[in-house]
Amino acid sequence: MVFTSVPFLVIIEDAMSKQQFQTEVSQLLQLIVHSLYSHPEIFLRELISNSSDALDKLRHLTLVDEKFKALVGNGIDSPRIDLELYDEKKILSISDTGIGMNEEDLIAHLGTIARSGTKNFLAQLSGDARKDSNLIGQFGVGFYSVFMVADRVEVFSRKAGEDKTYKWTSDGKTGFEIEEATGSDVRSTAGTTVLIHFNDEGAQYANGWRLQEIVKKYSNHIAFPIFLTYDKSEWNAEKKESIKSRVTEQVNAASAMWQRPKSELTDDDYKEFYKSITGDWEDPLFWFHTRAEGTLEYTTLFYIPAKAPTDLYQSEYKGGIKLYVKRVFIMDDSKELLPQYLRFVRGIIDSEDLPLNVSREILQQNKVLTSIKTASVKKILSELKNIAATDKDKYAQFIAEYNRPLKEGLYGDYANRETLLDLVRFKSTKVEGLTSLAEAKERMQAEQKAIYYITGGTESMLRNSPLLEIYKKKGVEVLILDDDIDEIVFSSVPKYGEIDLKAVNKSTTGDDLKDDSTPEKTEELKPLLEKIKSTLGDAVKEVRASSRLADSPSVIVSDEDEPSARMRHMMRAMGQKDIPEPTPTLEINPDHEIVKKLLANPEDAKVADAAWLLLDQALLLEGVPLKDPAAFVQRLNRVLNQSI
Ligand code: ADP
Ligand code: MG
Repeated sequence: MVFTSVPFLVIIEDAMSKQQFQTEVSQLLQLIVHSLYSHPEIFLRELISNSSDALDKLRHLTLVDEKFKALVGNGIDSPRIDLELYDEKKILSISDTGIGMNEEDLIAHLGTIARSGTKNFLAQLSGDARKDSNLIGQFGVGFYSVFMVADRVEVFSRKAGEDKTYKWTSDGKTGFEIEEATGSDVRSTAGTTVLIHFNDEGAQYANGWRLQEIVKKYSNHIAFPIFLTYDKSEWNAEKKESIKSRVTEQVNAASAMWQRPKSELTDDDYKEFYKSITGDWEDPLFWFHTRAEGTLEYTTLFYIPAKAPTDLYQSEYKGGIKLYVKRVFIMDDSKELLPQYLRFVRGIIDSEDLPLNVSREILQQNKVLTSIKTASVKKILSELKNIAATDKDKYAQFIAEYNRPLKEGLYGDYANRETLLDLVRFKSTKVEGLTSLAEAKERMQAEQKAIYYITGGTESMLRNSPLLEIYKKKGVEVLILDDDIDEIVFSSVPKYGEIDLKAVNKSTTGDDLKDDSTPEKTEELKPLLEKIKSTLGDAVKEVRASSRLADSPSVIVSDEDEPSARMRHMMRAMGQKDIPEPTPTLEINPDHEIVKKLLANPEDAKVADAAWLLLDQALLLEGVPLKDPAAFVQRLNRVLNQSI
């Protein structure tokens, strides 16, 4: 058996066939049954999408794998999905001629939750049914949703290239049974049949019209034909009565919707297709549908989900672009399809120029795909820019979800940096809400030489930092970058167009704003500065007079290319070792009362206490924990004692 990395929790109950669900599955089933009752109809979308996936997988295998090529002509070359309804018996079967499952597959796929996304999902459940069912929508719990409408489900499956058919049965409560199928249950071709015995809640779906409606709503653009066999009542005008006859009708459009001209597609077509490929409940924020003709021919349809998936920042997150070649599904969530930072984009790429048997390895250096990818990124970013300019509210919704991944792009996607800089948004000392660099540029003061920002702490810490005092005094805007990745990202972005981007906690930043009296003040302060330096010794690199302070007596700054104190603290907290400890530079405010008093009365013991207190308070404001808090408290008490 191949249960590699998945913790396999199925407990064999009795030696024959009865097995318990993995704990997570039981949890999930409980939840589905209790909180999803508002939309039980999605069970059909989930099962049809599984069949469609299974058909895609088999079709792909027959293209790339000799073993499966040989099977073509043996029933698997007419891919289709069949729904058969027995309304009196309240039974519906959903059959496909797809890849199928053998015994191990059935246990692994329909008894455990292997997908880390779903496990994450379970970890995030709040117990609030409304919120949780939204989450379910985002994750798409798939097969198990059938237990909203069924009190018993039988799955008959035969894996392509294998002989045996297996039967999986469950009531969706405690566990399932597996046995080899016999008699008429044995399938003549590969594929899967899911047989649903509707429960009271599900009985409403034992209705041909209703099923057609649901298929059209969710699965119209599934690429394979979906047939429904049911007892159709038709009015017979001659006999003046309604007559029932058993019919089989195709119920979906079965066209690759992205190949249809934009002019023929309605917003609802786009939304329905989005929901069918993502399992999301909510409409997407927007979509971009492009057909490229010329040297390369391809179609892309990209969607931005209304909500960022909750596992977007987890390493196991799988992106959502599907690759098709000439409308044949090839693969999904390949890292090659879009850059990592655009992993929130969902949709499809359909190329006319790639070989059908393209493998992941080939894709990595494929020129065609590289060109499609480059053009797609440009397209997505320029469309976003367009929305930012024309629909501020929509763009705000977008930014609320995706500002951070765009920042990741600033770090990695050098070619599109300027566009990304126009797309990201920032908090600021000058405006409520968020602002763009273009707007900050507009607001620059005549003497202002750079756009300034502060990083390395929570918003309130940054807003209250003594480093901002000079900027406040001069009316110069500072952008508040309080996202934990901001410091890493923006230390690698030196300019916005022609304008320098500068962190205010770097030693030379703000020099252009300094007033001219600094040199003479430094002269006057020199003996005191030297005394402080000799007290602090190696704890500081330098002690100097500051011209960036107004209300605070001291502040620490770092050299141009050093990570800030707070940043190093963060790196250490994340388990990084051997981070060099660059010593900070301490700046003293010559105009501050405390400093003036020290200058007038430079008694050794007082200067010694003051030197440490000036350094420690500056460190505390930067969010750096003190190395020796006990010494700090002792000094503080000594000083308090003298002053009371
Ligand atoms: P997902 O489709 O997101 O993987 P599901 O719960 O819908 O999750 O299905 C779980 C797994 O069961 C699928 O990944 C697939 O391996 C298997 N499976 C479900 N239905 C079928 C089917 N009709 N044919 C083949 N495999 C299937
Ligand atoms: Mg599924």
